[in-house]
Amino acid sequence: MSPSQTPLTPLSVPPSNATVKISIIDSAGRLGRVPSKLFFEPHIEGFEYWTAPSYSFLIEHGSSGDKLLFDLGIRKDLENLPPVIQKLVEGWELSSHKNVSDVLVENGVDLRDIKTIIWSHRHFDHTGDPSVFPFSTDLVVGPGLKKIVGEGYPIDEESICSTSAWEGRNFIELDFETDRRVTSIGRWKAIDWFEDGSFYLLHSIGHTMDHLSGFARTKLAAQSITGTDEFILMGGDVAHHGGEFRPNRFLPIPTEISPDPRLPPYCGGFCLGAYYAQRNMRHNGDDCWNTPFLKSAKPFLDDEEKAEWSLDVIGEFDVHDNVFVIFAHDNTLLNVVDLYPKEATEWKEKGWKREGRWRFLEDLKGHN
Ligand SMILES: [Zn+2]
Repeated sequence: MSPSQTPLTPLSVPPSNATVKISIIDSAGRLGRVPSKLFFEPHIEGFEYWTAPSYSFLIEHGSSGDKLLFDLGIRKDLENLPPVIQKLVEGWELSSHKNVSDVLVENGVDLRDIKTIIWSHRHFDHTGDPSVFPFSTDLVVGPGLKKIVGEGYPIDEESICSTSAWEGRNFIELDFETDRRVTSIGRWKAIDWFEDGSFYLLHSIGHTMDHLSGFARTKLAAQSITGTDEFILMGGDVAHHGGEFRPNRFLPIPTEISPDPRLPPYCGGFCLGAYYAQRNMRHNGDDCWNTPFLKSAKPFLDDEEKAEWSLDVIGEFDVHDNVFVIFAHDNTLLNVVDLYPKEATEWKEKGWKREGRWRFLEDLKGHN
């Protein structure tokens, strides 16, 4: 069976009556003037540089009251990034004025109530600064991270993470082979974090092999306008741009794209899909309409093949109307979604998915 005939993998989420409350935190840290070629192939004229936020997510569990953070974005004291990272980002424009912890405290959260921090993966634009949280806050990471980061900086001058992130606290590395909470969602292995089906960590490997995504049940069928349970997929760095998994064979470019991605959010309108299809440099003919514009470039990939596979998987989540996909650096959603302290439960009613889906096309429109 050729890839174009492969049927959509059902997500097969185990049934549950438990939900979590999700809030999208933008601590205003930005990756700026990043050469697009470091992250994306092929090169697209007019899309030379990439600017992106780095979202963090607050997850509040109904029955236990537990509060978790998925990712911490960019730390505000950039001068304290390990030297290897400072060298890596030379020439980029990094900005960060607040830690996620500052945003939480400003909104009345006692940091002692944050039970767990989960890192999607080991890169500095996600790891923030866990040392500002009390030692009672656990740090949870994906398989293999501990070995890669070693003792941490400054004990190890070459490490990309700071020892202070985990020093003095529970530092837990997940194991998708032995954990009794393991199941699968779509084609990824999953850990049912609270063992009630409200929140899963998915082993979404490729960008890095320790990579985790978060998958949250945000609404039950009885309360939702879709008549099905609703979910948010926090995709971390599985994708860095919507053009890496859209369009695809299950979600071709529409003949008329509405709302018009050239207009500000919530202005409606439409534009012709044919213009963007002919901007798809990877393929010819019909494939321009149903094959993603971009693939991930090698410099930041642990495993190129697995990264491509995970982009295919996130594309499958994305075609489901009851799943809202938000990856860490989706700059197209900044003016579409409600940010913390507002919550994200009503994403479907508010039309975030419909509004945001094709907005990435603006990066790919060329110079004219
Ligand atoms: Zn990142």
